[in-house]
Amino acid sequence: MIPFLDLHKMNHRFEKEFKNKFTDFLDAGYYILGSNVKSFEKEFATFCGTKHCIGVGNGLDALRLILEGYKTLGKLKNKDEVLVASNTYIATILAIKQAGLKPILVESEATTFNFNLEAISRSISNKTKAILPVHLYGQLAPMDAINKIATDHNLLVIEDAAQAHGAIANTGLLAGNLGDAAGFSFYPTKNLGALGDAGAITTNDPELAEVIRKLRNYGSSSKYVNDYIGFNSRLDDVQAAFLRVKLPFLKQDNIRRQEIAHRYIAEICNPKIKLPTIVNKKGHVFHLFVIQISNREAMIAHLTKHEVGYLIHYPIPPHQQEALVEFSNLTFPITEKIHQEVLSIPIGPVLNNNEVQKIIEVLNSF
Ligand SMILES: *Cc1c(COP(=O)(O)O)cnc(C)c1O
Repeated sequence: MIPFLDLHKMNHRFEKEFKNKFTDFLDAGYYILGSNVKSFEKEFATFCGTKHCIGVGNGLDALRLILEGYKTLGKLKNKDEVLVASNTYIATILAIKQAGLKPILVESEATTFNFNLEAISRSISNKTKAILPVHLYGQLAPMDAINKIATDHNLLVIEDAAQAHGAIANTGLLAGNLGDAAGFSFYPTKNLGALGDAGAITTNDPELAEVIRKLRNYGSSSKYVNDYIGFNSRLDDVQAAFLRVKLPFLKQDNIRRQEIAHRYIAEICNPKIKLPTIVNKKGHVFHLFVIQISNREAMIAHLTKHEVGYLIHYPIPPHQQEALVEFSNLTFPITEKIHQEVLSIPIGPVLNNNEVQKIIEVLNSF
């Protein structure tokens, strides 16, 4: 069986370093917002090219705390509208709702799975205050165009970079440095994954960074001094320690993902399979390799028979989820078709060439 993602194998590469880091952590006897969080924040900001990084509990909180930070600064207020892709993972939408803002779902492109720019322009009202693009599957949203729209309409741009650690725009700038602020997740399966929940925010805005630093820790500026109604969403120090071990390998891991993706694109040649559209070959970090197939059930049976793992990202679009009934009267034909046809095949830094070869053969024999 070729697993969809072999997390054990991925992390086993770092076993010795993890154990050393854990011993140091245990010996330090300081477990919350310790030296590992501070160091990781510096290192991840440097990696992304941003001035600030704030470690938080997870990716959902990262997005929410950006929005809460802007509310604290008076740049957003309750019920302001935030444009968000209708085919994103539900977390993007939940963050907006939890911050007391109104998500406005925007249809996607059938080819890139990213925002449709005309649909963005059509969705702007006088209540729109922010755009929240997601770099879905590791491919950057069209940030130049989004930033242009945002400038024209005086909107904030907040990246959901949970699937795009290290993705590079044509300008040479990295995900996390392409808008006003960005939320990252280090959920174990992400391109940079912890061994538990973890997340971070990157920004070049010193005011926002300062407010979020407080908000993640009870709104506290110093011990037992509380400036705001804050949250408890601190990056765990031991997770920060593990992330510090893995960060130096992110770039080469992404290159390996790209190598595999390029082989898939060159060698999967089955007219029943639609391969993903790659806009920027060098910049896409292939968090997922997502094919489209009209007869998905049959393909799943074929993969199962030949022992190739797969997942569906995602089977139900957000506006059809029970949790989001408020959107149930809306229709997004492209998004709905995407959800019916997408299938993610194995990709990752520890997939070997024999496995890649087998996956290509299995797909071509469908
Ligand atoms: C994983 C993910 C999140 C949420 O991250 P968590 O750490 O699980 O909270 C948000 N948005 C996208 C696009 C994601 O893939």
